[in-house]
Amino acid sequence: MDNKEQPLIKKLIPEELAQKISVESFYFESKSRRPILRVSEPLDEYTEKTLIGLLGEDLCINQVASQSKNPEELINRLLEEALLKKATDLHFDPQKESVVVRVRMDGLLYPIYQLSSSLYQRVLNHLKIRSRLNIAEKRLPQEGSFSHNIGENSMDIRISIISTCFGEKLAMRILLSINEFGKLEDIGFPSSLTSMMQGKLNKKTGAIWVSGPTGSGKSSTLHVFLQYIDKKRLHVISIEDPVEIYDPQINQLSIVESMGLTYSFLLKKVLRQDPDVILLGEIRDPETARLTCEASLTGHFVLSSIHAKDGESILLRLMDMGVDPYLVASSADILISQRLVRKVCKHCAEEVLVSPYMREWSGLEKMMKGRGCEDCYYSGFRYRTGIFEVISLSSESKRVIADVNRHAELNECLKNDRWTSLKEYGLNLVRQGKTTVDEVYLSLDS
Ligand SMILES: [Zn+2]
Repeated sequence: MDNKEQPLIKKLIPEELAQKISVESFYFESKSRRPILRVSEPLDEYTEKTLIGLLGEDLCINQVASQSKNPEELINRLLEEALLKKATDLHFDPQKESVVVRVRMDGLLYPIYQLSSSLYQRVLNHLKIRSRLNIAEKRLPQEGSFSHNIGENSMDIRISIISTCFGEKLAMRILLSINEFGKLEDIGFPSSLTSMMQGKLNKKTGAIWVSGPTGSGKSSTLHVFLQYIDKKRLHVISIEDPVEIYDPQINQLSIVESMGLTYSFLLKKVLRQDPDVILLGEIRDPETARLTCEASLTGHFVLSSIHAKDGESILLRLMDMGVDPYLVASSADILISQRLVRKVCKHCAEEVLVSPYMREWSGLEKMMKGRGCEDCYYSGFRYRTGIFEVISLSSESKRVIADVNRHAELNECLKNDRWTSLKEYGLNLVRQGKTTVDEVYLSLDS
């Protein structure tokens, strides 16, 4: 990294730190005496915090000077960085005098750039044109998308713009292609259950339900399941809100509520298209819930997700939505609950003692934990993996589900059909040094 530090900053910060940053200029603003630091390379969060600690809370870190003034080049650079970091989103947050750019990695946001408001305006206009949005509209929310090529990689980006106190806030979601997903083991699904799952996924009727909170990777799991289905010989169609993972081998439909294209409306139409397998994004309304269960009994195989905390809650949620218990019992085959946990950074992992409270909760004394390094942005974690509860319903459980008077037995019955539980599965990952007890605990809390 270039080391062009000015004499002034050299006096104010330790030499070791000065060597880590590429200083273009450092000065105090004449009126406000606010320290202004211009750098040519983005700073990591840790360095930024250290600099603020040393130079004062009002430090303004500016990376505009050396950045390209060309919006197209800048977007290219930001997206390249996002791809490299395996980021899922880019946020542009307008502040009083500048705009902060943050990337979302492993579920959390990290600031990487600061742009001047004028450059941001040109970036925004450029993106509006590429996404075929109204460039003159600055107050009403707008949504659009565009494709972007970086080398051989083609990325699809969805953008959303809303007006905040300090200007238009832009959020970019990097949509994934199914080619980026591998097999079940790659998302953390228990490898011992792969062949059982494969058998279930090749049935002609029935339903698999995946539950978990928002952002727990339900859609990824459903799309990975489709990889085990003969997509060439079968008609696979999905209804999602909206489509976020592209799979060219299936037909994908997005919900557009404002046009009346709701889940239930599209599902009724899809059933006329002679589908073999139907993938449904999160089910939220009684009509779709009922239609889904009915479809899975009439020659269709259905994969769907639902907002529920565990296997038992999936069944109760469906019945709460008015689906007849008998219908739930006859259609459901497999109930899956999942959460995402962050993986311990391989580069800075060390063995530590588990805190007393967590020790009591987990029964574990020691675990691996990241100390924090450049690779993991000083968070101690890099990448995420799934933890799963898998229930394969037996005929006895199905009889209990169908009979409202026996629902008190449900919990006990499901325990017998359970292959893995979320807590057990998570703690097993801790034993293997892949995640921490706290990560598992927090993920189960949501
Ligand atoms: Zn690390």
